[in-house]
Amino acid sequence: MQTMTNQPSQVYFGSIQHGNPGRFASMSAKLEKIIKHLDFSTIEKKDKVAIKMHLGFRDGYQTVPVFFARRVVEAVKETGGYPFVTDNPTAVYNAAERGYTSETLGCPLIPVAGVKDGYHEEREFDFHNVDTLSIAGVLRDADVLIDLSHAKGHNTCGYGGAIKNIALGGYTGPSRWKKIHGVENSIEYWDADKCSPEHAKELVETCPEGHIKYDEEKHELTIAFGMCNQCMECIDADEGTDCLHFGPENFALFQELMANGANEIIDTFDEDKRFYLNFLLDITALCDCWGIAQPAVVNDIGILGSRDIVAIEQATLDLIAKEGLVESMIPPYFRNVDLDSEDELHPFARIHGRMKTPYLVTEYAENLGMGSRSYELIELLSPDETKEMEAPKGVSEDQPTFF
Ligand code: SF4
Repeated sequence: MQTMTNQPSQVYFGSIQHGNPGRFASMSAKLEKIIKHLDFSTIEKKDKVAIKMHLGFRDGYQTVPVFFARRVVEAVKETGGYPFVTDNPTAVYNAAERGYTSETLGCPLIPVAGVKDGYHEEREFDFHNVDTLSIAGVLRDADVLIDLSHAKGHNTCGYGGAIKNIALGGYTGPSRWKKIHGVENSIEYWDADKCSPEHAKELVETCPEGHIKYDEEKHELTIAFGMCNQCMECIDADEGTDCLHFGPENFALFQELMANGANEIIDTFDEDKRFYLNFLLDITALCDCWGIAQPAVVNDIGILGSRDIVAIEQATLDLIAKEGLVESMIPPYFRNVDLDSEDELHPFARIHGRMKTPYLVTEYAENLGMGSRSYELIELLSPDETKEMEAPKGVSEDQPTFF
């Protein structure tokens, strides 16, 4: 069990690479071993165990494979706890389209804030333009949290993993879409008095991505920071007028609020009843909310498990940085990808822009006392280890067969 000490936090790792073609060296065996090390024994009989996943939308099937989710469900059942998989109502409602059903998962699927997204508990926040957020009621009801996340890129903050899975997915739709996603506009970045309507229209035209909008009637200019790739063409076009100002602080707000939002939720669980599993598979550039199939921009890496949400996020980001981008897989609609800079940029910052440095969220989370960025990566059943092991003989098909 992970406790908050000065020691680095333990993060267990099962690599996609294997040293033997036998099942004992496969990813499923590694997941079982990671779960053993995570030690589910702190789950008590009859505990209600929320397995928070992102179940994707529409065609977005590249989430945590149901195959692995079912293994986690089975491991929870062995403790005597009652597992259920949960996500926002829409994703739960059409989850079967992506293969997630109570039959395939082995447990019920429950909408995280009720069927109409109205079952929640309001919490006060004092963060820029955010004064309250509504925590999904089903998470408040649960005794145990298993944060089962797909590691991937994210257009707003560079990266989405364990923190994002609960910081956004643990709140109701209005909190998520209007408040958390609206926080970036809370620092003033446009001076209306200095900007004529003509200049505002010119600025709109300069954005090659179409992320600047101008409402002439209200004389109001807005930037969709979540989509902005920081090409800075608008800032160049503004030279001489100087009505537009934005920088890393605008982009950082989202990550700071994510850390705060996740903290509010994990605090509702006892420290020994929180578990984190990150799946570094099918690592796409955009998050699962997009509801589309995407090329994987980073090779598959494996599975991580920890009791420390900060450590697992830090380790995930480090492993992705070490693996690097598969350049040929970067979709052409990312038009400001920085592959050449010698600056130490995380692969996701190269795609989404250097002001969307994905490590920020782990810094904020550590400062809030959510965990430690210092970690010990413990690889289980490594390829080196399993290549020395002897596979059991004659077990290629040990269940009922059609042959
Ligand atoms: S920095 Fe580039 S992408 Fe962002 S709003 Fe300005 S012109 Fe558009």
